[in-house]
Amino acid sequence: MNISELTEFAKETSGRLRVKYPNFNLETEMLYQMCKVTEEVGEMSDELLKHLGSQRQDKLDGFKKEHLAEEMADVILAVLIAAEVAGIEIEPALSQKMEKVRSRSF
Ligand SMILES: [Mg+2]
Repeated sequence: MNISELTEFAKETSGRLRVKYPNFNLETEMLYQMCKVTEEVGEMSDELLKHLGSQRQDKLDGFKKEHLAEEMADVILAVLIAAEVAGIEIEPALSQKMEKVRSRSF
């Protein structure tokens, strides 16, 4: 898998959402997708807390590391769809950010 496949997936998914929600205008679509990003970040946080053993026992029961991986994937995909909806080309933005981070001293 590469970034082109991911951005193609984001285009396909945003197109399917436009069919599902034909009354959304661009602003509503962007707000909807930002809510989805936030929802997925919350789900990822819940799984991370389970991974760290920092949740109630009933939540820890049945935890699998795959659940954390799945939620991390959800966050990435939700952000890619949000970028697509906003008309942002994410690949150059990612390249620029990676260069910026590489140039930092830790
Ligand atoms: Mg999720």
